[in-house]
Amino acid sequence: MSLDQLRQCIKDALPDLDCVIGWEQGHSPATATPLFMYEKQDVDRLVFGPLSVHNLATYLPGLKGKKVGIVVKGCDSRAVVQLLRENLISREDVTIFGMGCNGVISHKRLNRTVDNLDRASSLRMDGDDVVVTIDETEQRVAFAEVCPDKCLTCTHPNAMISDHFIGEKSDRAPICETPPALERFQAMSIEDRHAFWEEQMSSCVRCYACRNACPMCVCRDQCVAQSRDPHWMSQETSPRENLMFQLAHTLHLAGRCVECGECERACPMELPILLLRQTAAAGIRNLFGHEAGVDPEAQIPLLTFAVQEANIKE
Ligand code: SF4
Ligand code: SF4
Ligand code: SF4
Repeated sequence: MSLDQLRQCIKDALPDLDCVIGWEQGHSPATATPLFMYEKQDVDRLVFGPLSVHNLATYLPGLKGKKVGIVVKGCDSRAVVQLLRENLISREDVTIFGMGCNGVISHKRLNRTVDNLDRASSLRMDGDDVVVTIDETEQRVAFAEVCPDKCLTCTHPNAMISDHFIGEKSDRAPICETPPALERFQAMSIEDRHAFWEEQMSSCVRCYACRNACPMCVCRDQCVAQSRDPHWMSQETSPRENLMFQLAHTLHLAGRCVECGECERACPMELPILLLRQTAAAGIRNLFGHEAGVDPEAQIPLLTFAVQEANIKE
């Protein structure tokens, strides 16, 4: 069983590492939470499955200089590739335990679909369904209804880079080509798009959880959204100022965003901010044929330029 293999592989590697990051069960069997493993006995708490949602690569830049192991799914591994490409982490310091992934569950979506999720005593996958037991009664929902959109369109379910690949490779195919929210957004007129964001941004509370959860957002204390000297951006929570912050984040991530969706998952107001990143990523793909975190040697558009860009006609 691959969880046992993964645990053994981490136990074998741990003496040469400061820590290994994975997931453990959270406050209920319907949640998981990041796990930092320092000792062999910590490894026994490790879990891996549809609740292993967090992109743990977010922790790596802050641990630069330490010897760190990390468990990654396909989408997480794209963040590791991108961090390496930008020299934000060192390859010799990171040990990558790669896994194949069959998709994860959005807790927010599951919570909206299933009654009394906090009282769940177990959660398991059964084919294309998620089965949750609550008060000794099984509730069954279709996986496609409760997964994040990224899993619907996933073309990289297996870790793309690893020192140890554990278990079977996943052969899951994308359920659709374009993220459904992006498809709906692209069908809107410019006026409707503006009204859409005006309404969405009226709920943003400027908590910066979206920024803090992002593996590629590494300015931290120097972020233009919060710097006081110089004071680049107001802290006002008006729709216009909130959108200004989101656009700054999106443009900073253009060509670097690996579309892991952590920004949107972290948002307490459930704002569809991944849409802004996906819109930028679609533009970058069309213009430069570039997908972040896929090719460790790729030139990163907007961090470099060619005098004659093939797809830009002047
Ligand atoms: S996007 Fe792919 S690799 Fe990431 S959680 Fe979904 S199925 Fe797994
Ligand atoms: S902007 Fe969002 S989707 Fe893109 S890398 Fe950051 S957290 Fe992931
Ligand atoms: S996490 Fe949501 S509410 Fe918080 S700043 Fe980001 S968009 Fe606004």
